[in-house]
Amino acid sequence: MLIAATGHTLEMFSTAMIKIKRQPPRRCPKCGSYRLSTDGDIAERNGIRGWQQRDACGACSYRGEYSFFPWDEKDELDLEA
Ligand SMILES: [Zn+2]
Repeated sequence: MLIAATGHTLEMFSTAMIKIKRQPPRRCPKCGSYRLSTDGDIAERNGIRGWQQRDACGACSYRGEYSFFPWDEKDELDLEA
């Protein structure tokens, strides 16, 4: 009985972990629609190239703030060499 109970607890725990890891359905902060997607583009900031993306709603004109992901770390290493 004890083993079965422990197994059940572990099962509950892993289910909870999966729920935490899984992203909750994102909604548009403006109209509440679930038709929220990401809109991305290549960009350059302060001479650093990267990828910028933002939330874009398919139901209204909402566009979120851009997040920037630089990808030029390799070039910086080349300068030090
Ligand atoms: Zn919207």
